Amino acid sequence: MSSANGNGDGNLMRSIPKVDRLLAREEFEALSRVHSVGVVTRHIRAQLDELRDRGRRGKLVEVDVTVESIHTRVESTLHSAALPYYHRVINATGVILHTGLGRAPLPQRAVDCLAAHVGHPLRLEMDMTTGDRGGRDAGCADLLCELTSAERATVVNNNAAATQLILAAIARGKQVILSRGELVEIGGSFRVPDVMEESGAQLRSVGTTNRTHLRDYENAINEETGMILKVHTSNYRIEGFTKEIEIDELVALGRKHNLPVVHDLGSGCLVDLERHGIQGEPHVNRSLDAGADLVCFSGDKLLGGPQSGLILGGAEAVQRCRKHPLYRAMRPCRLTYLALESVLRIYREGPDAAIREVPSLRRLLAPLTELKERASQLAQALRGVKSVDVEVIEENSTAGSGSLPARDIPTWGVRMRPTTRSASDYAHDLRTGDPAILPRVRDDALFLDVRTLDDDEFVMIRDRCAMIT
Ligand SMILES: *Cc1c(COP(=O)(O)O)cnc(C)c1O
Repeated sequence: MSSANGNGDGNLMRSIPKVDRLLAREEFEALSRVHSVGVVTRHIRAQLDELRDRGRRGKLVEVDVTVESIHTRVESTLHSAALPYYHRVINATGVILHTGLGRAPLPQRAVDCLAAHVGHPLRLEMDMTTGDRGGRDAGCADLLCELTSAERATVVNNNAAATQLILAAIARGKQVILSRGELVEIGGSFRVPDVMEESGAQLRSVGTTNRTHLRDYENAINEETGMILKVHTSNYRIEGFTKEIEIDELVALGRKHNLPVVHDLGSGCLVDLERHGIQGEPHVNRSLDAGADLVCFSGDKLLGGPQSGLILGGAEAVQRCRKHPLYRAMRPCRLTYLALESVLRIYREGPDAAIREVPSLRRLLAPLTELKERASQLAQALRGVKSVDVEVIEENSTAGSGSLPARDIPTWGVRMRPTTRSASDYAHDLRTGDPAILPRVRDDALFLDVRTLDDDEFVMIRDRCAMIT
């Protein structure tokens, strides 16, 4: 292929050093002593391939093919490859439950509990008074019953599993009535109609997207009906000319026809958010007290615990899920029970303790005055940094992960305008460095929302920004 600098690239291509020559040099031998010859060879090959590829596109320059420059790049790719894939990220996005960042960060008490126990054998499925087997999920299930009006509870890997298990255990081979306004898709891989099909239940959707009446449900009931399902519209809101049937009325209908009524709450909440001025995520007891046979929700959304799916309700219905063969494939690992129990024990001390200690709740309910004050502190910390101009501004946070859909949460934070490069370049540096920092990028500026930051992260951000030129 001809190139802009004609023969130049051809000559440069020929000057790309050979692998063996590089490996024999002292600086590469030093790398091999740390990373092994095989690994270093692989990284050198990858670099040389890239250089040849650039040469073919006429994009090679003299400096690229020097031994020093190849060594620098190999050293850098070896360094990145040696870093763990999973690592801490400073979440400055203002998305409280960021699915890309593992949703809810755990409360310190759960972290301490994990650190103290996971390296040892653990009481999990054992009655310690008799030494017999039994009670794998009792530690969390009993707490869930104490914290709510449920008779019984169980825990599976996530809420998708909970939904599927309930459908399979209660309504396999039967019809499940669900409003068309609640045919939810949560991030591509969880779509209510698909979950239904996989579980062996048959979807009987009723009503229209914006309006479903009680008579729509009632007209759909026949001898094939096995369940009435209500699904929380977690990540969207239907506004305008709308009608949905509340759980109380569905329970009354279910009773009349002797049908179980199940509520998938999505992001179940164990504190009364309405008391704190936040609408749209009712307390789990709202549905249980209304008489729903089962409710299910995620452990790592607003509850603020580890990834898990919680099933609560009447003794007989929960027992059917617990006894279903799918349960074995869906039961969580011991780390989950440990973390979840710690989180539930915080709730047991009351809503104030939960709001103080559970990061997702604390962040959601942080007062605006406090956020404004903290934003000035962050801006203050960043003021001496040459690579950015900073300004305290008002913005919006979001709950994320299908909680509090389409509701902006006013917040404060710092707008950073990089002085020497584009905002997206700057953000790339922040994301890929150590510690990794994830800001929001908009209108060629970066925004750091203090709502999702801890105070001790302010200096970490300053130190990182101070290293960027
Ligand atoms: C989030 C959500 C799910 C899926 O929960 P996971 O814990 O992510 O599996 C299911 N149903 C609703 C309504 C949800 O909001």
